[in-house]
Amino acid sequence: LQASALQEAAGDAYTSDRKRIQVLANIGSPQDVPDALANHAEGIGLFRTEFLYLENTKWPTEEEQFSSYKQVLEAFPSKPVIIRTLDIGGDKHLPYAELPKEENPFLGLRAVRYCLANPDVFKTQLRALLRASVHGSLWIMFPMIGSVSEILQVKQVLEECKQELATKKIPYSDQIKVGIMVEIPAAVIHADELAKEVDFMSIGTNDLTQYTLAADRGNEQVAHLYDPTHPAVLKLVKMTCEACHRAGIPAGMCGELAGDARMTEILVGLGLDELSMSAKAIPQVKQQIRKIESSQASSLALEALHQR
Ligand code: PEP
Ligand code: MG
Repeated sequence: LQASALQEAAGDAYTSDRKRIQVLANIGSPQDVPDALANHAEGIGLFRTEFLYLENTKWPTEEEQFSSYKQVLEAFPSKPVIIRTLDIGGDKHLPYAELPKEENPFLGLRAVRYCLANPDVFKTQLRALLRASVHGSLWIMFPMIGSVSEILQVKQVLEECKQELATKKIPYSDQIKVGIMVEIPAAVIHADELAKEVDFMSIGTNDLTQYTLAADRGNEQVAHLYDPTHPAVLKLVKMTCEACHRAGIPAGMCGELAGDARMTEILVGLGLDELSMSAKAIPQVKQQIRKIESSQASSLALEALHQR
């Protein structure tokens, strides 16, 4: 069965009534690329770049980063490669980053908040990304965005990096897409305004679940409360998809929920256009997509939203 699923996984995934759902891979380093290719990923939906930093004993240089990003972009010619900027803080510590000790690190100086507070670190990564952009179809994604102001700030820093490269006559692509992760409830509630500023959104259900249900994703004591299929979380997913579509941009999901084949029909019914997951989940999810009929999926999604 696994072998036939793998064979069927070749080619794009359409529902039975011909709605295309893009199925992409989550990776943590260029070493994960062969597995993504073998499972017929239609691109990369989440490259978690923090692994580059976590396996190092000092800040990875622009050159080291450039070479990793270029490798991944070249492996997927003319397919989207969504690279997420550094997401440290929370439960991810970097010994050399000198992160402040915080009472509530998941509510603290995490991800894009850390990057905005440490522009040297941020700009090194953005320059590496810009330089790599000429080698493929780069989509840059910013994690833990909670406001329009943060989007404007990251775009400003990205602009400064472009200027720096332009001054040195170093090329970068003018086709780069800029998007955000939706993982804070505020980003969903305010999604219409955020959507006007970006080219795409991708829902991070791992964090969105913990912040919506106030249940730490790594705390076993509350593991029974941590439920990405909770109707409140699914409602936020639907709201995000609707806001994306009002703005004419694609709605994706790259949290663990996206790779759960039992949920595929509901996720499509909620309006997602793109699902990104660990490579091994791709064949089964594509198989599910091909069985889906859109109006049935919408009814199933409605039912899931009204669970008690
Ligand atoms: C998420 O929060 O769902 C996500 C994909 O990001 P991470 O798991 O890396 O926090
Ligand atoms: Mg996250």
